[in-house]
Amino acid sequence: MTKSEQLFMRAERVIPGGVNSPVRAFGSVGLTPRMIASADGTHLTDEDGREYLDFVGSWGPMILGHNYPAVREAVIRACEKGLSYGAATKREVEMAELICGSVPNLDMVRMVNSGTEAVMSALRAARGYTGRDKIVKFMGCYHGHSDALLVQAGSGVMTAGIPDSAGVPEGCTKDTLSAVYNDAASVQKLFEEFPEEIAAVIVEPVGANMGVVPPEKGFLGRLRSLCTKYKAVLIFDEVITGFRLAFGGAQEYFGVNADLVTFGKIIGAGMPVGAYGGKREIMMCVAPVGPVYQAGTLSGNPVAMAAGLAQLTILKEHPQIYRDLNRAGAWFFGEIRKLADQSGIPVTVNACGSLGCVFFTDADVVNYETAKTSDTARYAEYFRYMLAHGIYLAPAQFEAMFLSAMHSGEELHMTLERMKEYFQLYR
Ligand SMILES: *Cc1c(COP(=O)(O)O)cnc(C)c1O
Repeated sequence: MTKSEQLFMRAERVIPGGVNSPVRAFGSVGLTPRMIASADGTHLTDEDGREYLDFVGSWGPMILGHNYPAVREAVIRACEKGLSYGAATKREVEMAELICGSVPNLDMVRMVNSGTEAVMSALRAARGYTGRDKIVKFMGCYHGHSDALLVQAGSGVMTAGIPDSAGVPEGCTKDTLSAVYNDAASVQKLFEEFPEEIAAVIVEPVGANMGVVPPEKGFLGRLRSLCTKYKAVLIFDEVITGFRLAFGGAQEYFGVNADLVTFGKIIGAGMPVGAYGGKREIMMCVAPVGPVYQAGTLSGNPVAMAAGLAQLTILKEHPQIYRDLNRAGAWFFGEIRKLADQSGIPVTVNACGSLGCVFFTDADVVNYETAKTSDTARYAEYFRYMLAHGIYLAPAQFEAMFLSAMHSGEELHMTLERMKEYFQLYR
């Protein structure tokens, strides 16, 4: 038995499923998790000393690769000055100024501790601002694990409020309406039905939690006009896309303005950080200036801010990182598509910037329904083949592959070789 297996057996006895977040379990690929001991650059090393080329990047934060020296140094220096004060600090001001100065349409920002918290708080602000209760989300979009958002609505566009998780009372989700991704008409119908009741439409500007599903041309713009017309708040959940597609996130990349934006992942450089921000008049509803209560003992934690600020500063000062990363993504995912086309396996490759996903289906994947046509057993087999050859992909079909600025051409070529072998072997 490997050390990872031994540790996992111990873990299962004391942690539900042996993991602290379900996506880390290897259940859907029929394995047990590799216990990671360290990470550097594009590589992970497990407790057995096996190395992997990593395409998960801690689910997005590690856009500069793992253990980036300037980020690590900033954290060490911050630690020397104490881990938490529960009081205002200069670094929080610098962080907020950097974000407000660079993200389009964002006047004020509040730091929190996770993406879940960011989304939950943004929705509360939107509801407080509009005085309305209903929200619209899209099937297949993930916005963290807060009660109101654990809804995909099993059947049909207009189905409202069936919780997806045990432990979520229907009362918590009765104001959550579900729409179809890439189908603005499904949102329009909801607005026509509830013209003065919808507080907010929340969307992942690139769907990245049902595999990767880019927005079709015009989709985000239609959401913008509908929200303007019906005086609802448009929330871009940029927990994945923020500081990844471009420094200004999806608003900059697609040229569509949101009213509120949520961040996580990259903003903390691997530390537990989230944030939400947007228009001044909405953010001024938040306590202590406004009536919408939202708080956090460790929010804006000095060590976490040091990490985030260091990573964001590097990204801001080197805009070519985005050009290179997006170009690498276009090339790499394009090559996978070519390999897939040459193989007999039905594969659809979706990509946007440095995010991509290999779906084992011949359907165009444009929303949750079509994503679900993917053959997850095939994905599991592909995952196992890649892992056995030292390539660490997301251990589930409906997740993104994340490129970092550190992935070299050589590493990407090597990865393509392994994919080619898989496609040929398993034809
Ligand atoms: C990861 C994610 C979240 C939740 O963030 P956590 O930090 O895991 O709470 C919310 N929205 C999107 C789009 C995400 O990808």
